[in-house]
Amino acid sequence: MRKVHTAESIIEIAHLRNVLEQAGIACYVKNERLGGAVGEIPFVECWPELWVLRNGDALNARGLIDNARADAAPSPDWTCRHCGERLEGQFDACWRCSTPEEIAGATAGTDR
Ligand SMILES: [Zn+2]
Repeated sequence: MRKVHTAESIIEIAHLRNVLEQAGIACYVKNERLGGAVGEIPFVECWPELWVLRNGDALNARGLIDNARADAAPSPDWTCRHCGERLEGQFDACWRCSTPEEIAGATAGTDR
């Protein structure tokens, strides 16, 4: 068994487990339940962890995880150039003036 990923969100871990299983990589989720354990233990130790059952799959799994996370990365916040409204990344058009992000988007300091 080899740990390939830790994330704060069980949703992210569950998604990545699907990705690996679809690629034929057997995996296991640790700390899937964030029950009453939180408190005495430093919180990061309670984060869900994704493990692969076969050590030989670890490298491949990490590659798949990197790809999957790049795809799922949340869009950065952006500011509408048309009306100046500040918008969260999940909006693909300005909710105020309906200008699409590809026209109105003026995101700065991102690598996308
Ligand atoms: Zn706007």
